[in-house]
Amino acid sequence: MALPDDLRELYQQVILDHSRSPRNQGQLSADSCVHIHSDNPSCGDEIDLYICFNDDGSICDIKFEGQGCAISQASTSMMTEKVKGISREELTQLIQDLQQTVLGQGEIRNPEALGELQLFESVQKFPQRIKCALLGWRGLESALSKNSLSRS
Ligand code: ZN
Repeated sequence: MALPDDLRELYQQVILDHSRSPRNQGQLSADSCVHIHSDNPSCGDEIDLYICFNDDGSICDIKFEGQGCAISQASTSMMTEKVKGISREELTQLIQDLQQTVLGQGEIRNPEALGELQLFESVQKFPQRIKCALLGWRGLESALSKNSLSRS
């Protein structure tokens, strides 16, 4: 996958902006919320995710607190803006497409849903950064399976 240069530039601005002022910062304290802590000791990144689910398994609200490198924080901030309200199937597909983008493996099924997250393809060239880019997404995956368990 090769992004046109003008898109690449625009997406880079988006990532920079998210790393400087992360969105959806904070905690959710309702009983129904799932809290997941993830860390990446090799870089010093930490993410605390708070996620509230609807009855159908879609995400009703998501917030996070974190510290660490720009890639880990921007990737998580951008994630919180993409995942609210979409169906469980779309969510699973988005996670898979994002992982394949970062790892440079497999076919991206829905690039439109990824949008500016496609720029994380550049992380492929920096293997030590892959964990940073995926940290929040791994936390999201844990939250999804925790939510599935609690509903079954
Ligand atoms: Zn990092």
